[in-house]
Amino acid sequence: MKILVLNAGSSSVKYQLFEMNDNQVLASGLIEKIGEMDSLAKIKYCDERGCEAKIERVGNIKNHDDALAIISDLLIETKVIASLDDLDGVGHRVVQGGSLFSKPALVDAHVIEGIERLIPLAPLHNPGNLAGIKVSLEKSPSVPQVAVFDTAFHATLPQYAYLYALPYKLFEEANVRRYGFHGTSHHFIVKEAAKTLQKPLNELNAITLHLGNGASMCAVKNGKSIDTTMGLTPLEGLIMGTRSGDIDPAILFYLARTQGYTIDTLDTLLNKESGLKGICGNNDMREIGKMAQEGDEKAKLALEMFNYRIKKYIGAYSAILGRVDCIIFTGGIGENDSDVRRDSCQGLSNLGIEIDESVNNQRCSSITYISTTSSPVKVLVIPTNEELEIALQTKEVIEAL
Ligand code: AMP
Repeated sequence: MKILVLNAGSSSVKYQLFEMNDNQVLASGLIEKIGEMDSLAKIKYCDERGCEAKIERVGNIKNHDDALAIISDLLIETKVIASLDDLDGVGHRVVQGGSLFSKPALVDAHVIEGIERLIPLAPLHNPGNLAGIKVSLEKSPSVPQVAVFDTAFHATLPQYAYLYALPYKLFEEANVRRYGFHGTSHHFIVKEAAKTLQKPLNELNAITLHLGNGASMCAVKNGKSIDTTMGLTPLEGLIMGTRSGDIDPAILFYLARTQGYTIDTLDTLLNKESGLKGICGNNDMREIGKMAQEGDEKAKLALEMFNYRIKKYIGAYSAILGRVDCIIFTGGIGENDSDVRRDSCQGLSNLGIEIDESVNNQRCSSITYISTTSSPVKVLVIPTNEELEIALQTKEVIEAL
């Protein structure tokens, strides 16, 4: 069974083609700078001799229609598939499923209308995701298309965890609530952890940390998400590359009243100019690590703040879970930055969390235990694979047809 996974943004489309018999990636690539004169189309695949090969093309790719045509041309030209009819399904990443979608959905007019209705909740993401779905449906109408939602894993949050203490009618009339994001990643790593720990998923309690440029944590009880740090939007919770995470909401009124900020400039401030970048001027964790080593005080402070916020949530999630079987790190930072893992878990032996520095001190490209053998809570690094998770969920929907 061949499944193409598409992650369409407003000006880019990432894609991966899987052979689901053995979950192998047959080809992957990216279309970047859609709408610009120097758009870039890339594919990585295995050639006829079994060697890894790459093609890169620069030229004007006007819109998503052209982008999908190029993906299809590249897959056919490289003989990965003979035609789009070879596909058994297409899985689409959709960021916001709101309260409408609690599981992956076979795309039809009703699903498209639902994703469209959710655009006000995810104005930066859902339109691009939707453009990918519409064009893909047009190009291969006989291939089942499945929408996989970033929010769906968090559909199991209890109401007391997802509601904000605002007038209840804002929930009823304007859908204001916590949705949570990175669900595909949290779901994938928790399933991998269950296999690794040889524990049934529905008996596993875990704290999952997806730490990348965007960062979120999730409390998983008996295999289900019961709380997560991101909220109505991906702005809440942890300190991120350029996003503030949790702040006192009254800061916004104060800045508007005293510093002349508007809704739009506040949006830019909190989403693009805050977080690690706001503190030390850089949002790349590798750079910040180097700056801190060279004695940059602001970089050291940014790291301290980043790790402190994670530690607070580990404490909070330990409290709501009661028993924690494992803590799982993933994402660009979670998989690669041993200092962040060590410092965010430091001093937590009272919660049963003990990192073994000799195993932690590495970049982890495969599943790795980083806790001591006697640590009551196992700490693992599990590289995430959101594309594979989308392909697996797409396969499940198609097989149930
Ligand atoms: P992601 O959004 O998951 O791609 O993660 C991006 C973040 O991971 C950036 O802050 C990168 O600096 C960070 N990252 C990637 N590789 C490393 C590394 N080797 N050490 C520390 N941070 C890294």
